Amino acid sequence: MSLPTYNFCAGPAALPKAVLEQAQRELLDWQGLGVSVMEISHRSAEYQAMAGKAEADIRELMNISDEYAVLFLHGGASLQFSNIPMALLQHRSADNSARADYLCNGIWSTKAAKEALRFGKINPIDMVEIDQKGNRSLIDISSRPTSNNPVYTHYTPNETIEGLRYTSIPVNSGPLVVDLSSCILSEQINVNDFDLIYAGAQKNIGPAGLTIVIVKRSLFEKMNFDKTPKSFNYREQAKQKSMINTPATYTWYLASLVFEWLKEQGGVEQMENLAIEKSQILYDCIDEDDFYRNPVAVKDRSRMNIPFILKDDGLNKQFLDQAKQANLVGLKGHRSVGGMRASLYNSMPVKGVKALTEFMFEFKTKNG
Ligand code: PMP
Repeated sequence: MSLPTYNFCAGPAALPKAVLEQAQRELLDWQGLGVSVMEISHRSAEYQAMAGKAEADIRELMNISDEYAVLFLHGGASLQFSNIPMALLQHRSADNSARADYLCNGIWSTKAAKEALRFGKINPIDMVEIDQKGNRSLIDISSRPTSNNPVYTHYTPNETIEGLRYTSIPVNSGPLVVDLSSCILSEQINVNDFDLIYAGAQKNIGPAGLTIVIVKRSLFEKMNFDKTPKSFNYREQAKQKSMINTPATYTWYLASLVFEWLKEQGGVEQMENLAIEKSQILYDCIDEDDFYRNPVAVKDRSRMNIPFILKDDGLNKQFLDQAKQANLVGLKGHRSVGGMRASLYNSMPVKGVKALTEFMFEFKTKNG
């Protein structure tokens, strides 16, 4: 019997096996219609029921009240990098004091800031300190130059590439906009603490092509859509249940299966417990001695994305090749930072992390 494959890719990421098996069973004949869910109208009663149930399920999983609209939009998180300042900042550009604060703690939050700059004035705030050993840590916001009355503050609770995570909300002023792409549904949050939450689907939600946007309806008052494409109009999308045009129907369907699976597993609370357990197993292995190293201060370490380097980076290729032979895939670090990265999203079972650490111990014994 061949060993199972564990996929540590940062995204598009592994989906729960049970979800893929269900999708496979239903591929050719969905709900007894004799056709695939991909081949029917998004306006059909069957599709509408599934789409509505998916929304109800994510509301239940994240405890989202009616004060918020939950949107299932096209495109990735990067599209939100533009859509958000287009809606909130663009129309304020004549006002010299209107600025959005962007906390930059890694590559994605910095990209978000750069994109916002195309639509208005922003205050980019560098939140990372790198010590002599190359370890990254988050700086306390109290020592940083924040704006007095920002139009909004944007931050990224989990930086996917560097593996940095905020353990608490770093700011307490202005509308809060967060990019939860790589940590949504993996830890409990209070949605009421935020004004707009967004997340690309391809990590903890489903395949690529869909972005979930959770927006406080009262924030619509501060938005202006005169110069945005109609599809970027959050208010209109909320009114039309994210179906101004044809949505990403198959991704939405797979997301609905993931939400059902999450509920069966015990919801976000259980995912958080597992994320703590899984990440600890891997960090313990990395920290055992100096053969492996995670270049992030312990207090700021991500539970979802764990980059690590080898003492001798000449062994990187060997590590990745041998890991692949052991059915441990998707471990190559992001092209901008190199090394290795293991992403431990909700779909990764504890035994997958144990298989990885066993491999790492063995590799160290042979090469240390
Ligand atoms: N934000 C974060 C935190 C991400 O990890 C990513 C993708 N890995 C993005 C934004 C960009 O997502 P997309 O490719 O869907 O635009």
